[in-house]
Amino acid sequence: MLLDSLAEAARQRERHALTRRRRIAATPCAPRQAVEDGAGTRTLLQFSSNDYLGLANHPDVVASFADGARQWGAGSGASHLVTGHSLAHHRLEHELSEWMAPMIPQARALYFCTGYMANLAVLTSLGGADATLFCETLNHASLIDGARLARAAVQRYPHADVAALDRLLAGCDTPLKLIVTDGVFSMDGDIAPLAALLALAERHDAWLVVDDAHGFGVLGDNGRGVLEALDLCSSRLIYIGTLGKAAGVAGAFVAAHPAIVEHMVNTARTYIYTTAAPPAVAHALMTSLALIAGEEGTRRRAALHARIGELRKGLAPVAQAAGWRLADSPTAIQPLIVGDNGAALALSAGLEDAGIRVGAIRPPTVPEGTARLRITLSAAHTASDVAQLLGALRAAMPRLAVREVA
Ligand SMILES: *Cc1c(COP(=O)(O)O)cnc(C)c1O
Repeated sequence: MLLDSLAEAARQRERHALTRRRRIAATPCAPRQAVEDGAGTRTLLQFSSNDYLGLANHPDVVASFADGARQWGAGSGASHLVTGHSLAHHRLEHELSEWMAPMIPQARALYFCTGYMANLAVLTSLGGADATLFCETLNHASLIDGARLARAAVQRYPHADVAALDRLLAGCDTPLKLIVTDGVFSMDGDIAPLAALLALAERHDAWLVVDDAHGFGVLGDNGRGVLEALDLCSSRLIYIGTLGKAAGVAGAFVAAHPAIVEHMVNTARTYIYTTAAPPAVAHALMTSLALIAGEEGTRRRAALHARIGELRKGLAPVAQAAGWRLADSPTAIQPLIVGDNGAALALSAGLEDAGIRVGAIRPPTVPEGTARLRITLSAAHTASDVAQLLGALRAAMPRLAVREVA
């Protein structure tokens, strides 16, 4: 019975071009990466990772990871509240607290094994029965799941619709109100109107939770993320930065008022009931942070933004001729919206034939009818990598459109 219904669900997925398959990486994360399939191993030029600064395989970060393992061993041995909280974790949290202090006065940072767990922690430990969560419709799945698990009431407001949120807040009478949003939207690449959201938070005595998975390390002159880029500072901010994307390693942190962090240490189940990450991970992250904040970070952010400019300039006419839509994104996430699931998959397959890997993103990750190629750029890409992608996209355009552009 179960197996019959699973087989039917699999047939449905297949029929709607929604089957997901894992690819096996045979070499480390880099623009050119070998992947294995049944036929053998092939090296592809990939525009799919979230390694925005190219730090995942940076020699200093790798050396620091190995050094951390020699110093601390492989595993932490227990959760943070038992014996797993090491000096390596503690130093990292101290460093992150200082990093965030210009944007969140007196900020204290708390390290988590993953961003998914950090988001669950914030929403479940603060979102009690006396609270309302105001969630943006395009929020990441981890924020959606956190809201589902929380006891708080949940209201959703349309993408970037500050006026709609204002009305919802005005009509809410729970003692605690939390506005919950991605900083950079993960499937669209646009930036939330955080200055306006913060003004609403102040007006309605609410708090603003910002998940900056795609902004941390990438945005702001010092790579401190979306708050730095928008020059925001407030103690009403609760900030989540992830450390497996631009920082190139793993984990995440929450930065907020010390009383909020202390409450999470005592109540957040995804903090308490899980083994602390290996101390070596925290040790390696100290090196990542130093790179992000230093000259190398500045250089890498400049390279990334140059690649973003080249891609957008080259892609605009191609998208127009092909009837695709290039999302209005200033970040490393550059979605090319194709519409139909099958067409997005076919385009992705066409690129792969040309040796280029760009993932097709389909519902339910994005709304029906907006299947897309999610192109992500990295400081590790060169101008000629971007040119190669543009050439392949031109060649893969629907036949009719090719004639118009040529
Ligand atoms: C990737 C991501 C997360 C989850 O972070 P992990 O560390 O990968 O668990 C959370 N929020 C957003 C917006 C993300 O893109």
